[in-house]
Amino acid sequence: MQERSKHFSEEPDVKYSVNLKEKAMAPLTSRRDFIINSGKAGLGIYAGSTLLSSCSSTKKLVTGNSNTGFQQTPLPYSYNALNDAIDGTTMEIHYSKHAASYATNLQNAAKNENVDMNKPLEDVLGKISKYSTTLRNNGGGHYNHELFWKSMSPKSDQKPTGKLATAIDSGFGSFDTFKTQFSDAGKNRFGSGWAWLFVDGDKKLRIGSTPNQDNPLMDVAEIKGFPLLGLDVWEHAYYLRYQNKRPDYIANWWKVVNWDFIGTRYQSVI
Ligand code: MN
Repeated sequence: MQERSKHFSEEPDVKYSVNLKEKAMAPLTSRRDFIINSGKAGLGIYAGSTLLSSCSSTKKLVTGNSNTGFQQTPLPYSYNALNDAIDGTTMEIHYSKHAASYATNLQNAAKNENVDMNKPLEDVLGKISKYSTTLRNNGGGHYNHELFWKSMSPKSDQKPTGKLATAIDSGFGSFDTFKTQFSDAGKNRFGSGWAWLFVDGDKKLRIGSTPNQDNPLMDVAEIKGFPLLGLDVWEHAYYLRYQNKRPDYIANWWKVVNWDFIGTRYQSVI
């Protein structure tokens, strides 16, 4: 499918974040060195992403312990498992064709641009302005889908618990209000893109959206932070069952959100 560049004229302004990169480099390096030197890297506790808030003049760091590789990981359930929200054919095409292509194209771009694929993909996304549009689209595409599959489960707990539930209540007023605002972010994203719940530089929960395969990890994105939950609103994610009715897809998608996973992810960055 030739949909990658469908709305690419809507690229966010990259000048905004250029001056963040130098300032990000020192703490990124020192923190990584500390973690490696303390022997935790081999245990998978490695800090894969260190981020700056573009909105905050104090430019606080948000550090996550996620560590996304360049290969597609197995889908954690069968293609039909999410049928309450997404049909099996859509899942199969989405995972085995669309997402698989992002992974393959990412690996090819990484080779061409001398990216070390033993390091977390998060590191590349944080300085994606230094790389090609191909790497941006496919790096984002791969990262976003790897997160998307894990963010869903046939055994959804339907709502968050613990610290994430408390933070959603205090940040948005209630879980229902949060769902409405997040749904609106997905409905109102013009063309292809993603809706996000993310943690910003002040460790506050934020809702936003990005075009194409961009995400809040990218230095070129208009919203910046650590993504907790992403919703794919490209037509390939829902068109077979829902056709033009993106709001219906979003309404049903809540049935399969893996809040246990999202809550654990949240606790890793606060
Ligand atoms: Mn997709």
